Amino acid sequence: MVVGVLALQGSFNEHIAALKRLGVKGIEIRKPEQLQNVTSLIIPGGESTTMAKLAEYHNLFPALREFVQMGKPVWGTCAGLIFLADKAIGQKTGGQELVGGLDCTVHRNFFGSQLQSFEAELSIPEMAAQEGGPPSFRGVFIRAPAILDVGPGVEVLAEIPVSFDKASCSDRASQDQEESTGSGKKVIVAVRQGNLLATAFHPELTADSRWHAYFLKMASETGEGALCCVSTSVED
Ligand code: GLN
Repeated sequence: MVVGVLALQGSFNEHIAALKRLGVKGIEIRKPEQLQNVTSLIIPGGESTTMAKLAEYHNLFPALREFVQMGKPVWGTCAGLIFLADKAIGQKTGGQELVGGLDCTVHRNFFGSQLQSFEAELSIPEMAAQEGGPPSFRGVFIRAPAILDVGPGVEVLAEIPVSFDKASCSDRASQDQEESTGSGKKVIVAVRQGNLLATAFHPELTADSRWHAYFLKMASETGEGALCCVSTSVED
């Protein structure tokens, strides 16, 4: 299986390393025409405004949208999730361009600033059933987004409780989240819509390769033999 990596910015090396652990080669992709050589796509975490500017500079949006619209498997992690969402709201959204295709509303920087980044044990029965291992996954959330609502064709794979006691609740993003979700509720952090997979956290920054295995299986089930990663940084 061939894995393409569109290495615009960010943690593409970590995705390549995770794929390598599974015996899959990742190749970096930076130009629209290179997408023609691959049949699946990963959009890693990073900074979605920067990613959008770089994608625009390299004229990647039409090719990326076509890729999604053709039904090819695509996985977006964190900023990649934002890129895939049909609608993005929240701090600094600023009308940035999105690839779209995933029927959901995502809230950027939902959990607060970089300082409010955290790790959390997520219960993910669907993935545990398919990939084995514990029924949970250690999610790394770095200035992470959250999904506030999804369309009828979207399967929710993981949710996380929203705590309003945290210091993060003092900033604007958290005020938005309180308005959006109400106290004591959960927000969605992993979804699947057909061949689209999206996670608000960063499996590529852990030693646990089960999300990569899950995506590879998803890609192989569609008869697609290759993957591609679009990468961004984890800064913002
Ligand atoms: N906050 C970033 C953004 O809005 C995403 C963070 C990440 O990918 N770790 O693009």
